[in-house]
Amino acid sequence: MVIKNVNLETVCGITSTLPDNIHPEFAFAGKSNVGKSSLINGIMNRKNYARTSQEPGKTQTINYYNINDEFYLVDLPGYGFARVPEKVKEQWGKMIENYLHTSRQLLRVFLLIDIRHEPSANDVQMYKWIVHQGFQPVIIATKSDKIKKSQHEKHLNMLRNTLGLPDEIKIFPYSALSKEGRQEIYDFMDELLAE
Ligand code: GDP
Repeated sequence: MVIKNVNLETVCGITSTLPDNIHPEFAFAGKSNVGKSSLINGIMNRKNYARTSQEPGKTQTINYYNINDEFYLVDLPGYGFARVPEKVKEQWGKMIENYLHTSRQLLRVFLLIDIRHEPSANDVQMYKWIVHQGFQPVIIATKSDKIKKSQHEKHLNMLRNTLGLPDEIKIFPYSALSKEGRQEIYDFMDELLAE
């Protein structure tokens, strides 16, 4: 995969109608602070195009990044802030549900989980939601540089067990610092785009 150009083409709020894109989409979901913006920047090969560290209370949006006029990276709102009002949590759910329900171009949903920690109840719910909507999740175990290489397998097994992942569901460890995993993610996307 060669990233030639990237463009934040559409930003949707809670009341927006989602775009009816003609190119395939890869969506990214995960708890706030899990490293979603860093991963999207890494894939786009940009330092700070997707904004990092969204604060609680900031407007929740779905952002569509057009890549090479070939496909989209879709940044779904981060979930799991403890202190956001119930109303915001509800909006988050509605937006993601609506997206999963209506996108006709969605190829895969990447679900990001911090490699260090047991997935939260929200993570498990998100995983089930993706499956329930008929999509195959792909797990990205983020911040892989935070644990020793010798511990990776143990942590990946922990993620597998807690989420109850069948063998065919892939997990890619990823580090925004070393870019470990980026090539594997590119290869995976290339394969799907070629189908
Ligand atoms: P988001 O809220 O999910 O978009 O998360 P961000 O991408 O903004 O990352 C949250 C914090 O984790 C920031 O301080 C990042 O610098 C840090 N971070 C993200 N990815 C990595 C990673 O792979 N390794 C390390 N060590 N830190 C990371």
